[in-house]
Amino acid sequence: MTQIEPQPGIMNIALYQGGKSEIAGRTDVLKLSSNENPFGPPPVAIEAIVAAAGDTHRYPSTDHAALRAAIEEVYGLEANRVICGVGSDEVLQFICQAFTGPGVEVIHTEHGFSMYPILAHAAGATPVCVAEKDRQVDVDAILAAVTERTGVVMLTNPGNPTGTILPVAELERLADGLPDGVILVLDCAYIEYAVGHDGGEALARRRENVIMTRTFSKLYGLGGLRIGFGFGPNALIDVMMRIRQPFNLSEVQLSAAEAAARDLDWATTCVEVNAVERARLTGGLRQHGIACDDSHTNFVLARFADEAEAAEMEEAFQAAGILVRKVGGYGFPEGLRITVGRPEDNDRVLDAVAAFKGAA
Ligand code: PMP
Repeated sequence: MTQIEPQPGIMNIALYQGGKSEIAGRTDVLKLSSNENPFGPPPVAIEAIVAAAGDTHRYPSTDHAALRAAIEEVYGLEANRVICGVGSDEVLQFICQAFTGPGVEVIHTEHGFSMYPILAHAAGATPVCVAEKDRQVDVDAILAAVTERTGVVMLTNPGNPTGTILPVAELERLADGLPDGVILVLDCAYIEYAVGHDGGEALARRRENVIMTRTFSKLYGLGGLRIGFGFGPNALIDVMMRIRQPFNLSEVQLSAAEAAARDLDWATTCVEVNAVERARLTGGLRQHGIACDDSHTNFVLARFADEAEAAEMEEAFQAAGILVRKVGGYGFPEGLRITVGRPEDNDRVLDAVAAFKGAA
């Protein structure tokens, strides 16, 4: 009998580890482990979900026209350059599937999003990890890693779990230094929190090899529903459209995302509260001698003296009913990534830190 063999690369994939969501025996768990919006989805999105629910015997739209029109109206991203996916994860998957394969290298950075090597392996491609410098993406190191086999460069900007951001000028320098045949992917999952930074939108509009990905999972509070999109040159979007399943997004997903996108007041308020609370959380951690960079996202990477102290702090958080994210897998064994919560949530975090440091 012939052996059943998976496609090359698939068995190299280590399963994705998500943030924890439960603490045994506790009902008052504060989940700050997955960078979710602590205020939940906008009420208009919930209304849209309910309104769409009665029509779920119908197949959804295949062209996502209404959502893409809203993306054009609200963000100024031309609808014909937009592709929608089951989270931005699916758009990243389209990119790997369409433009890489055996023999092709996918460059990602040391602290970048852990789905990049998974998606590269799934396509049979070879992930190539490039070091960062002091928790910042290093453009020169990326350029030095480019070979004639490089197909795609994937960048998390702002970074997760670092929270740091590359300025547009550096993104431009990177794009200028890449061969025309290499695609630069700017994963902008948290870009709304980096007020004033365009995420490389202008770059993606100007160049034939730059794709920006965005999501409704973070600021828009719809992570559980799975909607994201990519914005890039028509020629690349056209290729990806051919491998997208015609009914990849349900009407429930599409209408919730459209309603959320149009609720600008809600988004603005969430960004403003996050900025104030992020500063308070960062300041509070630093007061206790815990190192953290300025974050441009909705989370803070707290760096402890060493792995042992981070583990003890995590235990102390759990004893207080708080879940944060261990980030050893992202190259920070001494780190804990803490999502910025509501003001009362952050009080709870800072109280736990004070108790821990007081007791230490
Ligand atoms: N990129 C980054 C950097 C992320 O943190 C996440 C969510 N964990 C994603 C992409 C994927 O998000 P989604 O598929 O929910 O859009």
